[in-house]
Amino acid sequence: MIEQLRRIVQEVNSAQDLQNALDIIVRRVREALNTHVCSVFLLDNDLNSHVLMASEGLKRESVGHVSLEVGEGLVGLVAKHAEPINLEDASLHPSFHYLQETGEEEFHAFLGVPIIHHRVVLGVLVVQNKECRRFDESEEAFLITLSAQLAGVIASAEATDAAAGVSPSGHKISDTVFAGVSGAPGVAIGRVVVKFPKADLRQVPMRPARDVEAEIELFRQSLEKVRNDMRSLHEKLAGHVAEEERKIFDVYLHMLDDDALGNEVVARIRNGLWAQGALAAVGREHVRSFELMQDEYLSERSADIKDLCSRVLFYLQEGEQEETEYYDDTILLGEELTPSMLAEVPKDKLKGIISIKGSGNSHVAILARTMGIPTVMGAVDLPISQLDGKDVILDGYKGELIGNPSEAVLERYQSTIKEQDAFIAGLQELISLPCETTDNHRVHLWVNTGLITDVAQSLEHGAEGVGLFRTEVPFLLSERFPSEQEQTNIYREQLEAFSPAMVTMRTLDVGGDKALSYFPIEEENPFLGWRGIRVTLDHPEIFMAQIRAMMRASIDLENLQIMLPMISNVNEVNSAMQLIKRAHRELLQEGMNVRFPPVGVMIELPAAVYQTRALVRLVDFVSVGSNDLTQYLLAVDRNNPRVANLYSAFHPAVLQALFHVVQEAQDEGKQVCICGEMAGDPGAAVLLMAMGFDILSMNAANLLKVKSVIRSVSLEAAQDLLDQVLQMDDAQMIRSAVDLTLYNAGVDRLLRSSRTN
Ligand code: PEP
Ligand code: MG
Repeated sequence: MIEQLRRIVQEVNSAQDLQNALDIIVRRVREALNTHVCSVFLLDNDLNSHVLMASEGLKRESVGHVSLEVGEGLVGLVAKHAEPINLEDASLHPSFHYLQETGEEEFHAFLGVPIIHHRVVLGVLVVQNKECRRFDESEEAFLITLSAQLAGVIASAEATDAAAGVSPSGHKISDTVFAGVSGAPGVAIGRVVVKFPKADLRQVPMRPARDVEAEIELFRQSLEKVRNDMRSLHEKLAGHVAEEERKIFDVYLHMLDDDALGNEVVARIRNGLWAQGALAAVGREHVRSFELMQDEYLSERSADIKDLCSRVLFYLQEGEQEETEYYDDTILLGEELTPSMLAEVPKDKLKGIISIKGSGNSHVAILARTMGIPTVMGAVDLPISQLDGKDVILDGYKGELIGNPSEAVLERYQSTIKEQDAFIAGLQELISLPCETTDNHRVHLWVNTGLITDVAQSLEHGAEGVGLFRTEVPFLLSERFPSEQEQTNIYREQLEAFSPAMVTMRTLDVGGDKALSYFPIEEENPFLGWRGIRVTLDHPEIFMAQIRAMMRASIDLENLQIMLPMISNVNEVNSAMQLIKRAHRELLQEGMNVRFPPVGVMIELPAAVYQTRALVRLVDFVSVGSNDLTQYLLAVDRNNPRVANLYSAFHPAVLQALFHVVQEAQDEGKQVCICGEMAGDPGAAVLLMAMGFDILSMNAANLLKVKSVIRSVSLEAAQDLLDQVLQMDDAQMIRSAVDLTLYNAGVDRLLRSSRTN
């Protein structure tokens, strides 16, 4: 049975479109279960009905024409309860709704299972039989398993149609919503540019050919280059591997013949597709049809085709003369965007960002927030290759993308943008005002930086210091480890820009979701693996070069402090301190007049929370990294959009942990700061202030928003609120209590609808 399931899923996966996929499902399921009927009903939201989309066994002419209103009939019942219904004789059930056009009167046995994707019921898969009998347990289990596996395929086929403005039942639709999670607040209206990695057939967007003949020529040249590569590999391997194995190259060469792959690609280019898109489409189809072959040898050849097409794609991309064209209102879309991809787009043209992978606290989202660009993360069902060049609305507050926008919806969002711009312009007045509560309690707002462009924005917004300089950002943008001198220059720029204000430089924090291309770390469980201080203590040469560079950069400025990430025990702090002292000694011996900087520890692991006292005794200050602390306390991967709704800095456990850290640090008379994204959430900032954090460090884009809220409340009200929420046991309730306090303080709507859950 498992083999049958696998084959069906594979075949459905290879379908060209939704209809084709559904036709395969009904045909194969009817065969597998040996039933008289198999049908699929899909929900069409526009019609508010479940439409009969495909059937084997019911009258053909009824397919696409028959529908049941939501809640109507047995299909409606299955969808409503999101549970299977298995009946010996359907006609006896009170919910039975006879559909005359289908000819279903002769079928008695009925089994319907819901098709559920991410908690949403997409439709119902039904099998029926003539005789009166209950489908047995194994049949029911088969259908449930299949439906669970097919839901994702159906959702993605539906999304592809939706991107083209077509509903599941073929109606023209507008305002199709693709859900993700909020990455950075704000609304943007613009045109999509897809960013895709090199030589990856899956992600090539379907763009029109600008010059058909030139594209064909480029394709032919790329084919020829791969042929040459194959011939020379063939020769090189002579005598080293068995003749049998060398034959694979003949197969490759044969596949590259004009009448095999080549002609199909050229035909598609002539039809208007650019060469990369044509090759990717043909390549993907061939790979799929080979995967489906029964013969194991042939089915394994799919990997060869993929490899071959990727090689051709590589040369096509290498030969592509044209630079990516960025529209004036570019919405950048990619499966996994990197900081360097964002950096490539001219700043004034980048209006919005959408990432298929990642979640609200992924580092790309943090970067986007710093840049103040509305961002949607984790839009997992977005048909990436279909959206290039499409006009869309991006709602970074809700974490949604709206395709085929109608005039009415466009107008609504245009007015939100106006409101947003006016609101941001209004905040500028606060720049020169102090950050203090209505009862004159002064709060220190610092910034998190990484890119050099952050500096100007931070200074413009009146930052009083840098609570976190993510030193890994310049490392991520580089193609090799920056030398000590290069690092010194980068750090000097930061220190000079903020002098005399303090700049907290965190030592290299790579691993997790921050991978250096020139220092790959492959791990099953990267967030629980070799990250942050663990990497740098294992590579003292990297650590020493960085510390030396930081200290050298601070000569005569004296505004450096150093911070250690991912600390889980005192030994790590002791070892790091020894290296820092050694670097200091070395520089003194080299004749440099370097002051020993304050050193601090990040509290971002649960273990560190409970060791705050022991840790802080070894250093000068602690700083809470609430992004990781939330992830580790709640066991929610900060990058995984599937569990994004569980990631909440307002979780009572997170708040209790933060409060504990503040009290322990204060008891030791040491400074306590917070530099996770939570500090930049206006509502959360009020709680953090009440807890007693000395410094709130946030991305510059949030600084004035937080200042605005703090200036609207009193410390007394904030402390009352804190007392109240520390008694609560649910994140949602806490969030609502905070929002209510802000509302009562007359805080603007745009500040209350903040993104942190
Ligand atoms: C954090 O974890 O809260 C933090 C500030 O560090 P990063 O987001 O860079 O992991
Ligand atoms: Mg962290």
